[in-house]
Amino acid sequence: MRRLILLSILICFHCILKKCLCSSEQDKVLSITAMTQEQVNLLQNISSHNETSLWQPASPSHITSNTPVHLYVQSSSVTRVTELLNTHGLSFSVLLENTQELIQEQTRNSTTDPKSGGTTYERYQSLEDIYYLINKTNQEHPDMTKLILIGSSFEKNPLYLLKLSGRRGPVDKAMWMDCGIHAREWISPAFCIWFIKYALTFYKENPDITTLLDKMDIYILPVMNPDGYKYTWTTNRMWRKNRSVMEGSSCVGVDLNRNFDANWCTTGASSSPCSDIYCGRYPESEPEVQAVTKFLRAHKASIKLFFSMHSYSQMLLFPYSYTHEQIPNHSELFELVQEAAIKIRRHYKNNYRYGSGAKTIYLAPGGSDDWAYDQGILYSFTFELQDRGRYGFLLPPNLITVACNEALAAVKTIAIRVLEKLQ
Ligand SMILES: [Zn+2]
Repeated sequence: MRRLILLSILICFHCILKKCLCSSEQDKVLSITAMTQEQVNLLQNISSHNETSLWQPASPSHITSNTPVHLYVQSSSVTRVTELLNTHGLSFSVLLENTQELIQEQTRNSTTDPKSGGTTYERYQSLEDIYYLINKTNQEHPDMTKLILIGSSFEKNPLYLLKLSGRRGPVDKAMWMDCGIHAREWISPAFCIWFIKYALTFYKENPDITTLLDKMDIYILPVMNPDGYKYTWTTNRMWRKNRSVMEGSSCVGVDLNRNFDANWCTTGASSSPCSDIYCGRYPESEPEVQAVTKFLRAHKASIKLFFSMHSYSQMLLFPYSYTHEQIPNHSELFELVQEAAIKIRRHYKNNYRYGSGAKTIYLAPGGSDDWAYDQGILYSFTFELQDRGRYGFLLPPNLITVACNEALAAVKTIAIRVLEKLQ
């Protein structure tokens, strides 16, 4: 008996070390569908509490009836939340029960953990590792890359842009791609890193990437929100915004994709600093947004194509998101995303929805793609990468390859078409 007690103490101690606190209860992700307005209201209230984190939609204000809501619930609140849902007759299912394991799996590093397996590009990289990787890439490919420091974040982390060019003379066209505006969308920086590796490896091997690099410069910003990204690795995996601190508020962070000067802070954004879609004190108040807009303004004569990478929900979107009105070249961009979605379906048997942002998701003012479009970059896109909610923001590393290949196929398809149009 004493042995048994000793054994359970040991197991319990092991559990504490692993943060499971002697209980099988873990943080969970629930998929909940409200049917009535009363249930919608209840769900909006639940999801604005701190011990939960709304995965989909981005803000409680976007919750509507008959559309599944994905809610991350901390272990301490699982019982209370599920009881509340049951009492009010809300139907729900558990999307993920093993969140801690998934998070652990995502943060494994080959240098400290031989079990991690896979190559660098089949793992998620910490901020430091991404900085190291792009510096190393720059040193190894001096003929094709240039590292450009465009500014720094609120916490003074550098914002590095990697410029990719083919081995040829100067050209007058360029493409922009940013990743990691939203901190918890880890597949996004993983894609930028993936794209850089692909472009440098397959230049002069793959005809599409060769054409792109021969005719355009490609500017890539792998992590637009380094402070937030770092925070998701150290403190809160579900963090979305940057980490700017505001006088007079205990809440931290601005949603960088609501901070651009594009119908700023109208319907679809929040003026409350505690909201996950907080627009900031004024347009371009955030150093990360200032750095990007400054660079884009200075290069807008050459930049013809703009991509911003997000996750999750598998969508290929274009302006506008700040209004339901159509852009003048709506049908042209619609055809481009349609062709890209068809290519993904044919090669990877995966479905991506496509269309203008406001019509395909919901109104979202102050976004980078709308701003870029209004600056005259007429081929402007936002991609929502894998998946559709099975793992959400916790996409396992073994799905990085297919997620990146799909996004790559879409980027190449659209960019090649646009180059043809511009000739
Ligand atoms: Zn996002």
